[in-house]
Amino acid sequence: MTKIIDGKLISAAFKEKIAEAIISLKAEQNITPGLAVVLVGADPASDVYVRSKGVATKKAGMNSYEHRLPAETTEEELLALIENLNNDDAVDGILVQSPVPDQINYQAVVDVIDPNKDVDGFHPINAGNLLIGSQGFVACTPLGCSILLKHTLGDLTGLDAIIIGRSTIVGKPMAMLLLQQNCTVTIAHSRTKDLDKKCAQADIVVAAVGRPEMVKKDWIKQGATVIDVGINRMGSTETGKAKLVGDVAFEEVSEIAGAITPVPGGVGPMTIACLMYNTLKAACDRRDLDIPDVFDEFL
Ligand code: NAD
Repeated sequence: MTKIIDGKLISAAFKEKIAEAIISLKAEQNITPGLAVVLVGADPASDVYVRSKGVATKKAGMNSYEHRLPAETTEEELLALIENLNNDDAVDGILVQSPVPDQINYQAVVDVIDPNKDVDGFHPINAGNLLIGSQGFVACTPLGCSILLKHTLGDLTGLDAIIIGRSTIVGKPMAMLLLQQNCTVTIAHSRTKDLDKKCAQADIVVAAVGRPEMVKKDWIKQGATVIDVGINRMGSTETGKAKLVGDVAFEEVSEIAGAITPVPGGVGPMTIACLMYNTLKAACDRRDLDIPDVFDEFL
């Protein structure tokens, strides 16, 4: 029977450990980690993400600092704010919600974030550390996918994995994480030929494309594990709310996969949990404190 990988349940257990670690950090070191989230403009989806990050931060017992800037903010103004946050000792993690308005170069902003506070793991130093297998911050979504895979399959050594999507925030770091775990990795993208046939050979399929229900049943090998990163907002339902669907045709793929993540309730909750973990890690690393080893069972 197909296993539904419950990201809500797994992230709840992970967040519980994070909250416990934060209680100890406060009690033993008098440290409360802080996460600063910057939103420029009023994109409705970004607004929801920023709000849920703030809620999760406070629930974990950390300080949340929200900076909401008008859509006409210049790149210079945003860079000045980042400089302040870099120098603010109460701030352990900094995240700039994407997308940013056209007048701002997102990568230029990421480049000035102190790599030791780069809890998104998007700074070139952290991306490079992942590439060479050094310590650093790993981007939250691929880290969350990796935790789900470990939880579902245990040791991934020798498995064939295909990642559909080569973005710097999901596809590429995901490939690095799976390589580290001794998978044989294929990275597919919009120019890949015979994608369905390549997918059908994989033990693990990670879909990070942004195309609703693109991955079909006949793309999947019997018993494969399918991780659906996609979040696609479909037209209003009767309740007036947008329906979320993934990049995988969940109903039909469930008939053949060994395990599959739902959308919502799969990768999404893990992304936020990993952001909390990275913020805790930043607070510990910056003060040369060891992060508790209770996380070994997840990572
Ligand atoms: P992106 O647009 O940066 O990258 C999409 C990738 O898909 C590109 O590398 C492109 O080459 C590839 N692609 C496009 N069309 C394709 C096709 N027909 N066949 C094969 N490959 C194709 O997107 P992203 O930022 O990596 O995000 C991907 C999806 O994941 C989006 O739906 C996004 O909303 C979602 N996402 C979810 C989370 C989460 O927490 N669950 C986090 C980040 C992104």
